[in-house]
Amino acid sequence: MRVLVDLNRCLSYGQCVFAAPSVFRFHGAESLEYDYAPGRALAEEVRHAAAACPVQAITYAEEPSGE
Ligand code: SF4
Repeated sequence: MRVLVDLNRCLSYGQCVFAAPSVFRFHGAESLEYDYAPGRALAEEVRHAAAACPVQAITYAEEPSGE
C-alpha cells in the first residue's frame, strides 16, 4: 500500500505513532518520518493511524495487485 502524510497539516500529535509504530515514527522532537510503502500486513495499522489522526493528515491507497 501507499501512504501519504500531509506534513503541512500534521501537528505532531503522535497518534499515528501509537497506532502504527512500525510505519510512523518521530525523528527528533517534531519531525514525523514514515514508511511510504508499507507491506500489506501493516494495512490494518495504517487504517487505525489514519482514523486516529486528529487533523486527517494521513491518506493511503491499497493496491490489490501487490504491496
Ligand atoms: S497523528 Fe496526524 S497530526 Fe499526529 S503525528 Fe500523525 S500525522 Fe501528524
